Amino acid sequence: MARVVFIGAGPGAADLITVRGLARLREAQVVLFDALTDPALRDAAPDARWIDVGKRGFSADSTGQQRINELLVAEAQSTERVVRLKGGDPSVFGRLEEELQALAAAGIEAEVVPGITAAVAAAALTQRPLTRRGVGRSVAFSTAMTQHGELEARRSADTEVFYMAGRQLDSLAHKLLEVGWAASTPALVVSRAGWPDQRISTLTVGSLGQAVADHAGLPTIVTVGAGAVAITDAAAQRPD
Ligand code: SAH
Repeated sequence: MARVVFIGAGPGAADLITVRGLARLREAQVVLFDALTDPALRDAAPDARWIDVGKRGFSADSTGQQRINELLVAEAQSTERVVRLKGGDPSVFGRLEEELQALAAAGIEAEVVPGITAAVAAAALTQRPLTRRGVGRSVAFSTAMTQHGELEARRSADTEVFYMAGRQLDSLAHKLLEVGWAASTPALVVSRAGWPDQRISTLTVGSLGQAVADHAGLPTIVTVGAGAVAITDAAAQRPD
């Protein structure tokens, strides 16, 4: 019986995949991979058939997703060990639900191997912990883009991390002010976290727009609030 293994590749550098993820990848006969995964991972399964289902061939809209679902099912029906390799963690903004549903509908088993999601990688790389004793008790992962392509900001946690934020940092700053973040709130912008060309900007909600030129067109997350504060500044803010 075929089984599809979803593997989180992590945010960039190939060695940020988990040991289990790498072990499953090594056994793959077919790998359906996304644009945001490191080509160096191919070395783990050089004899497998690698199929690019990233944005180039498959648009991110529902038609593109439908085609990926169909391909995944078709591959699993003809091949025993199919891997679906996704950037970051498959459970975070990875369309995992739709792909699991398509497999379940076809009676195909699945396993999900977690990966390091971009928000967590950015926190590690910038040494800005997402939670802070006393002042950072909650973290929220939000998409800055709704499914209809509209920009949306939130203030639902002490640390708010926005995915898919790169294109409109300027408008995001306005929306953040609208939902109640102060202009002086620390904001961290990280693009291509984990890759050799990663970019980091440390700003405030009010000055977020300044990062537009540096991050345009790149996979970018924006961390706002407690988790964006530099540890050197954090000691002064802790209330004990
Ligand atoms: N499953 C992925 C997210 C996929 S959605 C994860 O867990 O990380 C794609 C969005 O993720 C991008 O628009 C960007 O906001 C973010 N992203 C993915 N990789 C990134 C990276 N290396 N650096 C910064 N942001 C990244």
